[in-house]
Amino acid sequence: MKWKTSKISTMRTWGLLLVLIGLGLCVFGTSGIILFGEVGKIIAGVFMVLGMISCFVSMGVYFWVGMLSTNAPVLECPECGKRTKMLGETDRCMYCHTILTWNPDIATTTPAAPNDSESRSVPTQS
Ligand SMILES: [Zn+2]
Repeated sequence: MKWKTSKISTMRTWGLLLVLIGLGLCVFGTSGIILFGEVGKIIAGVFMVLGMISCFVSMGVYFWVGMLSTNAPVLECPECGKRTKMLGETDRCMYCHTILTWNPDIATTTPAAPNDSESRSVPTQS
């Protein structure tokens, strides 16, 4: 799988999508009561539960991302000069999406992914 943005941004996007899906399911379920009457109440219940689960999952994702981003090393992007956070050995800059890596073996010479040839090394900061 190819990451278009940094991992933190991707997970935040998923968290937001899950909240929207969850709220959407709740609204859809509630409208089921109006549309289908008694049967709609069962449908509404199912959708409300699904919506709640989706909201809880997204809360978990947000919490997880928060934990990860506090532990993630902060560095200055060599391409755009802004401070970004990295998850794992290889990640993209949150601003210019340049692929950054801690591993000098795969930097510049060997692409991190088959389709990516823009890998750049990051000077290790203490
Ligand atoms: Zn950058």
